[in-house]
Amino acid sequence: MFKYDPKSLKAEEFINDGEIRATLAYAEEHKNDFPLIDAILEKARPVKKGNGYVCAGLSHREASVLLACEDKSRIERMFEIAEEIKLAFYGNRIVIFAPLYLSNYCVNGCVYCPYHLKNKHIARKKLTQEEVAEEVIALQDMGHKRLAIESGEDPVNNPIEYILECIKTIYSIKHKNGAIRRVNVNIAATTVENYRKLKDAGIGTYILFQETYHKESYEQLHPTGPKHNYCYHTEAMDRAMEGGIDDVGLGVLFGLELYKYEFAGLLMHAEHLEAVHGVGPHTISVPRIKHADDIDPSAFDNSISDEIFEKITACIRLAVPYTGMIVSTRETEEVRSKLLRCGVSQVSGGSRTSVGGYAGYSADERPHDTEQFDVSDQRSLDEVVRWLMESGHIPSFCTACYREGRTGDRFMSLCKSGQIQNCCHPNALMTLKEYLEDYASPETRAVGEKLIAAEIGNIPNEKVRGIVVERLEKIANGERDFRF
Ligand code: SAM
Repeated sequence: MFKYDPKSLKAEEFINDGEIRATLAYAEEHKNDFPLIDAILEKARPVKKGNGYVCAGLSHREASVLLACEDKSRIERMFEIAEEIKLAFYGNRIVIFAPLYLSNYCVNGCVYCPYHLKNKHIARKKLTQEEVAEEVIALQDMGHKRLAIESGEDPVNNPIEYILECIKTIYSIKHKNGAIRRVNVNIAATTVENYRKLKDAGIGTYILFQETYHKESYEQLHPTGPKHNYCYHTEAMDRAMEGGIDDVGLGVLFGLELYKYEFAGLLMHAEHLEAVHGVGPHTISVPRIKHADDIDPSAFDNSISDEIFEKITACIRLAVPYTGMIVSTRETEEVRSKLLRCGVSQVSGGSRTSVGGYAGYSADERPHDTEQFDVSDQRSLDEVVRWLMESGHIPSFCTACYREGRTGDRFMSLCKSGQIQNCCHPNALMTLKEYLEDYASPETRAVGEKLIAAEIGNIPNEKVRGIVVERLEKIANGERDFRF
């Protein structure tokens, strides 16, 4: 017998190997049980309530049955419902961000990451505060407003004080009309005290990828360094929440372990956060292993096809309807286009995955010496913005929610209330307008202006619509940073 308890604070009880195995067996047994699958699909659909929609979500067992199902028409249905959910809660907006690598000094031995301690030929680099400022100016000049800072784990070279100093520098830079208004943080698992310091520094989401939920594999993939400790890593989000951070971002590095196992583990993690803290993950990322310096992705034998990857993404969308979903430039334009139809709500654009990769490099020059992984989608931010608009999306540079205190369950309530169309939608249009005025190429600007004009009509509340029209005019005349 195994002990599975979503409310437990012990990693091996809320991500329970026995429960995952039983789930996979149940899913396999029911993968052709079409009445059950149809009932699960029906349960996942958004239902109109008042001005908005509500969605029941799915348990890890229900979602695992869908993932196991191989019936073509039902898989098609999963994609359709994923899109319905995305439109019900996030509309056609896609939030944009970029990663900023601060340091690749690392004391861990992660076998899939080129920053591992034993890699002696990769150049080691840590940005000085002057260099952070230069990177931020370069990112602002591209048009970015939201960053995810990334760093290796090294208590001597990158202690928490260094990370905090960098955050302070990032928020302090105001170059031309630029500003970084939200800094998300992707650093190694740490203490409650350090999470509190990050919270006090004004971070947005704390992101930590689990890499794999399979304990034995986890320990083999992280043979040395503090990250070897599976429980400490898996319990990090509980410490982050105890430290006051209520927006946390989960993720699995697909390719390391069997995807069905990871999928069940990921959803159990989300259920655990909901059960203990009353709020699920703010975001879920879906990275896949990529080639990098001394890393050959074919050395990992659990790689997944694009088709399976799309199915996983859609099934996550069905299971946790209110959670944002992120896809990075690890994926090609083609894969990203498909994932946008599977419920993804955030993408990175114009990304560099090296330390100091932005400042001083032209659009088609990229330094590789400190890079964490190869970037597949190498388009500029301007190209990504235009591509999104031409494929029916509104690129959003909005950061209003967390600046207005709409984090954790308050954000989730907004999501459920139907007010998103009177709040996030106008904010997306106003921040897109800023981008068009300050950074877009003439072609992108032309596409964007047309889109904004058409989308104003989709603001349901007349009063809000009037205010937005006024504010768009003000932005054209040089004013910035309006928000609802
Ligand atoms: N060092 C921190 C940690 O331990 O969580 C920060 C994160 S690291 C800079 C960002 C993420 O990149 C990792 O969590 C991992 O999932 C991912 N990553 C590492 N090597 C990769 C590779 N070869 N291809 C794709 N993603 C990779």
